[in-house]
Amino acid sequence: MAAERVIYEVGDIVRLKKPHPCGSSEWEILRVGADFRLKCLGCGHQVMVSRKLVEKNTKGLRHAEEK
Ligand SMILES: [Zn+2]
Repeated sequence: MAAERVIYEVGDIVRLKKPHPCGSSEWEILRVGADFRLKCLGCGHQVMVSRKLVEKNTKGLRHAEEK
């Protein structure tokens, strides 16, 4: 288990280890909870992913510049 806990917020851009087939590995967070809703920044595809899986595959997180 990861020692540090990542804080995910709606609007943040998360970079995952595994890129989407479209080539982008950055996703915008649309919803947080037990499951996250993510939108691919490359093609706009939306997916529901469990929080555990997101945490396991997070390579980086960029907080939204403005709220
Ligand atoms: Zn995509």
